[in-house]
Amino acid sequence: MIAAWRSVVGRVDAAAAGRKVEVLAVSKTRPAQQIRALAEAGQRSFGENYVQEARGKQTGLSDCSIEWHLIGPLQSNKCSVVAGHFDWLQTLDRTKLVPLLARHRPEAMPPLNVLIQVNIDDESSKAGCTPDQMAGLAEAVAREPRLRLRGLMAIPAPAPELNVRRRAFENMRILFQALVRQHPGVDTLSMGMSDDFELAIAEGATMVRVGSLLFGPRSRE
Ligand SMILES: *Cc1c(COP(=O)(O)O)cnc(C)c1O
Repeated sequence: MIAAWRSVVGRVDAAAAGRKVEVLAVSKTRPAQQIRALAEAGQRSFGENYVQEARGKQTGLSDCSIEWHLIGPLQSNKCSVVAGHFDWLQTLDRTKLVPLLARHRPEAMPPLNVLIQVNIDDESSKAGCTPDQMAGLAEAVAREPRLRLRGLMAIPAPAPELNVRRRAFENMRILFQALVRQHPGVDTLSMGMSDDFELAIAEGATMVRVGSLLFGPRSRE
C-alpha cells in the first residue's frame, strides 16, 4: 500500500510537470488502520463518500493530522454533521444546502472549503449542478463567511474512449477558468480517478481522487 502510494505520487508529480497537483486518497470501504498507515507515511487528505462511515473512522483517527473531504452526495439532514466534522465538501450541487452548511459551521473551525460538483456529461446521474447553474451557486457560497469557495469537482461518466473523457475534462477546465475570472480566490479543480488521473492532470486538474490504485480493488461500493 505504501509502495503503491509512492508510485501514484510519483506519477502525479511527473504528469503535473512542475504544477502543484494534490492527491486525495479515497478511503471509502477501507478500515481506519489503512488510513492511519498512509497518514503516517505522509498522505494528508482523505476522501469519504458516506458521512456515517467517515464519522466512525474519524473518531479512531483523531490523533492523526488528516484533512477530511466528503466526496459523496450530501443530503440536507447531514449538513450539520458535515459542517462540524469535515474540512472540505466536494459535492455541493444545490443552493438550498448553502445556508444550512454556513449556519452549522462551528466558529472554532476555519471556514468549510467547498467545491461545486458539476454534472458535466452524465445524463443518467442526478448528482451535480448543470454548467448553467454553476455561477449562481458560486455566488451563494462566496457570500457566506463561514464557507470558502475553492473550485469545482466532476465525476465524468465512465467512457471507454479516451477522447470522450478528455472532452469532459476539457469542458471542466473551461468552466473552471470562467469561475476563476469571477472569483479570483478559487484554486481547485478536482477531477480524475485511478484509471484516468494522468489525462485529467493534462487537462488541468489540480486535485486527483485515487482509491483502488492505492488500496487495491473494492469489494463493495
Ligand atoms: C470511489 C471514488 C473515487 C475513487 O475511485 P477509484 O477508481 O477507486 O480511484 C473518486 N471519486 C469519487 C467521487 C469516488 O466515489
